[in-house]
Amino acid sequence: MNKVIFIGPPGSGKGTQASLLKENLDYFLLSTGDLLREEMKNDTNLGKEIKHYINNGLFVPDEIITDFIIDYIEKNELHKKKVVFDGFPRRIAQAKALEEQLVKYKRDIDCVIMIDLSDDDIIKRLSGRKSCPSCKAVYPADKSNDICDKCKTALIKRADDNVNTIKKRIKIYNKETFPLIEYYKNKYKIFKIDGRENIENTHSRIMEIVSNNE
Ligand SMILES: [Zn+2]
Repeated sequence: MNKVIFIGPPGSGKGTQASLLKENLDYFLLSTGDLLREEMKNDTNLGKEIKHYINNGLFVPDEIITDFIIDYIEKNELHKKKVVFDGFPRRIAQAKALEEQLVKYKRDIDCVIMIDLSDDDIIKRLSGRKSCPSCKAVYPADKSNDICDKCKTALIKRADDNVNTIKKRIKIYNKETFPLIEYYKNKYKIFKIDGRENIENTHSRIMEIVSNNE
């Protein structure tokens, strides 16, 4: 059984890579962002709570996310499965909670994959992104036309992708994630991947790492 953690700044393509791993090596994908969005969409108690924080410009407290994800792992018996973790853990406290959960079933993390991208490259990549207002597909800045490949709707520039917002996200990422990487360095194998590579090359590299560590 294999447990892989993905770490990477916004714009690094880590979500795309996690999905590819799910498709090609039959991994269970735990995408924290998707799960939380689903809760908000379904207006569950947790969804309402998260919306309350977001609408008031506050951070969702760590413990709320941690409790939810750990509970999700337990319910879906993820200790028995090959899992790629995207968006969790984000901080050391979350990493420790995940470890405790896995240790309960005598499991552990197998490797940590970190997709690296410089601040300048993150800004370059995110500030020009286009998205489809209809099906929500997201495209890179250098897409050759402004029409959605999936549903043919005219694309728009993403509202949350202005430079100041991006800089804020980078700052939060650095503050949260650097200590986490330091923490993981002492425990597991960390594989650093160059985020400037294209999707296919990055995916092959990740497949190689994961296959070798299974
Ligand atoms: Zn579309």
